[in-house]
Amino acid sequence: MFRYQSIEPLNLLDNQPAHFRIDHHPLISEESFANTNWKLVIFVPRELINSHSFLYQPLGQILAAIFILFLAVIALLGASITVQQKIRKQKDQQQLAILAHQACIDALTGTNNRRNFYELGAKEFKQAQRQQTPLAALMLDADYFKKVNDTYAHAVGDLVLIDLAQTLISTLREVDLLGRVGGEEFAVLLPHTALDKALEVAERLREALAARKVPLPEGGTLSFTVSIGLAMLTPEDKNLDKLFQKADLALYQAKEQGRNRVIGYQEETAQLSHK
Ligand code: GH3
Ligand code: MG
Ligand code: MG
Repeated sequence: MFRYQSIEPLNLLDNQPAHFRIDHHPLISEESFANTNWKLVIFVPRELINSHSFLYQPLGQILAAIFILFLAVIALLGASITVQQKIRKQKDQQQLAILAHQACIDALTGTNNRRNFYELGAKEFKQAQRQQTPLAALMLDADYFKKVNDTYAHAVGDLVLIDLAQTLISTLREVDLLGRVGGEEFAVLLPHTALDKALEVAERLREALAARKVPLPEGGTLSFTVSIGLAMLTPEDKNLDKLFQKADLALYQAKEQGRNRVIGYQEETAQLSHK
């Protein structure tokens, strides 16, 4: 390190006794004497600086190492807390998504559960009412399902319900709404579908289900049938429940008439059901 300092050594001598004065010194020229502003350059070697620096003392180095270690531990702790918080947040979000899914979806069949079906269905109902577009409702019930459980096992009954739901999903359109509204009961809403087309869809569903051969765990297959009640939205239907009450009555008729069939709701259906 270099240090520079301005000094005036000759001026210092002004106040000295006469025998100290050097203004008439034979070795100092007139010119030098006139220039009293001198620059003093001091060179301090690195070793000298280091030997006086605290950080170069053994204790200083130990303390510096401890301080750096302390900073590293703090930084590591901070990073670990941030990562943990992120992971916890992700887990919470996943948990929420799972809970939301469980609240809407039937665990066995993967279709909408009853509550979600009627919630989504109410929206379809309002839209069809407002836009005056046709809306068909199907109520579908597996025939003699108790016998399936009794003959095979409840677990086999579950397999049939899964197969039934999958067949419905693959046969219906994306825009159709499906839900498991009871043990072996499913409801369907067909938006923008008039009576003749709705009857066709219902019949296609019934046939597709009757053709199913559900593989049994012990080998072999099991077939089943369903009955379907169909009702169309009319201006008299004030809400979705009213529409499905009609589909239920038609389903009741389908059961009465021998099962494995589709029955459309008619006024006579309603009268018959009250007999
Ligand atoms: P029907 O043709 O008149 O509809 O006769 P059914 O035997 O299907 O009707 P019932 O209402 O007497 O019986 C319905 C059966 O469905 C009884 C019940 O044990 C069964 N069930 C309901 N939910 C489930 C389920 O989640 N899994 C299984 N394996 N069976 C179920
Ligand atoms: Mg039933
Ligand atoms: Mg049944």
